[in-house]
Amino acid sequence: MMNHDRLELLREALPYIQKFKGKIFVIKLGGTVTEHSATLHSLAEEIALCHQVGIRIIVVHGGGHQVTRLARRLGVQQKIVLGRRITDDETLEIAKMIFAGKINTEVAAALHRLGVPTVGLTGFDGQLIRARRRHPQRIVDPETGREELIDYGHVGDIESVNGQLLALLLEHGYVPVLCCLAADAQGNIFNINADTIAAELAANLDAEKLLLLTDVDGILLEKGDPTTRLSRLTLAQFKELLASGRLAEGMLPKADAILGLLARGRTTVHVINGCRRNALLQELFTDEGSGTMIIPT
Ligand code: ADP
Ligand code: MG
Repeated sequence: MMNHDRLELLREALPYIQKFKGKIFVIKLGGTVTEHSATLHSLAEEIALCHQVGIRIIVVHGGGHQVTRLARRLGVQQKIVLGRRITDDETLEIAKMIFAGKINTEVAAALHRLGVPTVGLTGFDGQLIRARRRHPQRIVDPETGREELIDYGHVGDIESVNGQLLALLLEHGYVPVLCCLAADAQGNIFNINADTIAAELAANLDAEKLLLLTDVDGILLEKGDPTTRLSRLTLAQFKELLASGRLAEGMLPKADAILGLLARGRTTVHVINGCRRNALLQELFTDEGSGTMIIPT
């Protein structure tokens, strides 16, 4: 006999599908999400479903964990300061291989096998992102309170975004898959935090949503304890949370990206566990949700 409860889910999804049709979603895939092919393929199904119901999707990916792993195998030392990787010459070589080579191809292929027309890109294709080398920065270590001058190496900051190519691709039904490398006018290549790129694109394209898919269930009041997940935050509540010091490591660049985006526009941000089957669908198409939603007001 047919289980009618399962069909109720489709009814619940209807107003969301209607609301999101034709809207732009920027989906950022974190390092762990793209690392295991079973996780990636499962998530690709959820993204393909979003594409199929008419949401215009841009995928941005990082891949820090995989850079760390290959660096270890090659004997290249890694240093991460407050969630941001210091990129020396050898690490940039690895970043190019992992970001533009391995992960970009694998993400695009996972969507391609589900019939989604993808286009793999770096941040400088179509002059999408203009970046400049980050100047050495004075950083205060929150644990020791000591100030340090940090040279991030081949790390870039975004100077400007030109969403023309993306708009063109979206208009024709393509799903752009973007890795987190960009360049300056001289062709120097920089590593840029993928959360930052995703947020800048979301702002530039006036996206409906920025979805940060990571390896935790959302923003947690107590890091490491999933029962303390905050399901909905206003910008003011989010600022308070950040000031309370409860966000650390990789959540810090996300917090910067979220603050910058919410201050500028009307995009809603979600932090979702990309490694948990159906978490994306649950967050988008059910009343209940699965992660953390942060709204601009
Ligand atoms: P990604 O590859 O998805 O960007 P990161 O490791 O850079 O992943 O960032 C996510 C990590 O942030 C989580 O695995 C978690 O350890 C850390 N984190 C720090 N503080 C918090 C918090 N309050 N809530 C959730 N995660 C947090
Ligand atoms: Mg990260």
